[in-house]
Amino acid sequence: MKAHIVLLPGDGIGPEIIAQARQVLEAIAAKHGHTFTMNELPMGGASIDAHGEPLTADTLDACRKADAVLMGAVGGPKWDTIDPAIRPERGLLALRKGMGVFANLRPCTIHPALAVACPLRPDILAKPIDILMVRELTGDIYFGAHDTAPDGQSASDLMIYTVPEIERVARVAFSLARGRGKRLCSVDKANVLAASRLWRETVTRLGAEYPDIELTHMYVDNAAMQLILRPAQFDVVVTGNLFGDILSDESAAIAGSLGMMPSASLGDGKAGLYEPIHGSAPDIAGRDLANPLGMILSAALLLRHSLGLEGEAAQIEAAVSGVLNSGYRTGDIFSDGCQKVGCGEMGRLVIQAL
Ligand code: NAD
Repeated sequence: MKAHIVLLPGDGIGPEIIAQARQVLEAIAAKHGHTFTMNELPMGGASIDAHGEPLTADTLDACRKADAVLMGAVGGPKWDTIDPAIRPERGLLALRKGMGVFANLRPCTIHPALAVACPLRPDILAKPIDILMVRELTGDIYFGAHDTAPDGQSASDLMIYTVPEIERVARVAFSLARGRGKRLCSVDKANVLAASRLWRETVTRLGAEYPDIELTHMYVDNAAMQLILRPAQFDVVVTGNLFGDILSDESAAIAGSLGMMPSASLGDGKAGLYEPIHGSAPDIAGRDLANPLGMILSAALLLRHSLGLEGEAAQIEAAVSGVLNSGYRTGDIFSDGCQKVGCGEMGRLVIQAL
């Protein structure tokens, strides 16, 4: 297969970890006879330094035309005090919007070798945890009107969802459930919120089109509790932007380490934006200390969701598991008895395992 991938290293540890993901993609392409053309473009602070803005029209255009985009992370103290309108994070919001990605996928699994990093009790971990959180990304309270009264004594934020917005993200979630455990849990606050009632009605109606998927509904307060008490009950979870923001971070905490967590943001077509969930980690940047595995696992999601290369994606995931099982750890996931390695060495070990 031939595919064009845009790489956006970004700032801080971004360039270090994306270099490892690039080499992993090159290795998998060589192994299976694929041709991946990849070009790197500045984004975030790096783009502000080069072009005066965090995402240029040319970069966005290149991302829109690509089969997939792989991003490191953006931001850092150097740009914390500049005009908020051109901060690095603005580039990321513009990129998501410009690419039309509305479904944010965060897998949550606990690698057995890293169970020691999981804050849950061993008896809760006895059943395998494999959750795919699907968060709606472009609607909800973040995009409704934000108002503060002139006297400063009250403020409001409008939670708003439209039927098409709910339908499109629910369809992504139903389809993903079909390819996995065939169970979908929709999370809302329909006992209180009108937007949540519309959400529940819409998801329920769509459910008739997916009779092979077991659809359940859960209030968000209960879901927050159930994720801790009985995480193994979940397969695919779909929820709105605000609830998804909170629950996906909760699920990341269950997995134990920020540096291990990949994510995918998808729209209507096959193209998507793939990035680890962590930030640019300026405290460890440039010192070969970063964990590149969340970035490498994001590249695996890219192969799975944008290029349809399930076998190749699974091989990368198995290679990562193999390296962890062999006891190699970057500093963030290190525990006694393991061998500490740097970012570059961790990438090399994954390629060797491939
Ligand atoms: P962060 O995720 O960058 O770092 C939090 C802690 O986790 C730090 O101690 C860091 O060293 C560690 N860490 C993160 N990723 C790691 C990895 N791969 N390997 C080892 N350790 C890792 O969060 P922060 O410090 O709050 O933010 C730093 C900058 O990143 C800020 O400018 C913030 O705005 C930006 N940010 C960007 C994104 C993004 O690009 N998607 C997301 C979150 C934060």
